[in-house]
Amino acid sequence: MCVVDYVPRAHIIFLINQLINLLEKEGIRKFDFVLVSKTLHHLRTGKCVAKERDEEHKCREDEECCIYGFEEQKIFERLLKLGKRVIIYEYFEPDQNDYDKVRGRGGYFTTKEWKETFEYLSKKYKVEFIRPQQFHLDKKTLNEVDSTLKQVDCICFYVELAN
Ligand SMILES: [Zn+2]
Repeated sequence: MCVVDYVPRAHIIFLINQLINLLEKEGIRKFDFVLVSKTLHHLRTGKCVAKERDEEHKCREDEECCIYGFEEQKIFERLLKLGKRVIIYEYFEPDQNDYDKVRGRGGYFTTKEWKETFEYLSKKYKVEFIRPQQFHLDKKTLNEVDSTLKQVDCICFYVELAN
């Protein structure tokens, strides 16, 4: 099992690549489990997408009004190279002080971003929710994900290659 817990954005991509290299070097195909804890939103790209929504947008040094993108296709493909089952645990405490929460870099996912991610994942992979409740992600439950996410600040699900 491999645990990636609360890794800051500056280190996460590097760490995942290092772990993949290590597996190759040791001749191990994959970890059985990879737990990505409070870290998925740190896997945003380094590119601000705020200009796409607002032409007037100017990137500020503190990134306060910046929005960095998230490429769920690339991220999950990479994570599933690391482990057979990728467990995502996301928790967000709005009052906690955390520099990674600056919107641009590590901003927590909006409901829209979650929705897009789950739409993509449900088409391509097997997705099982554990928290806030246990259910399999399919066309039917996908429609209910929005309202579920709005009620909680902690979610947990896992992703596997579909058979
Ligand atoms: Zn910007």
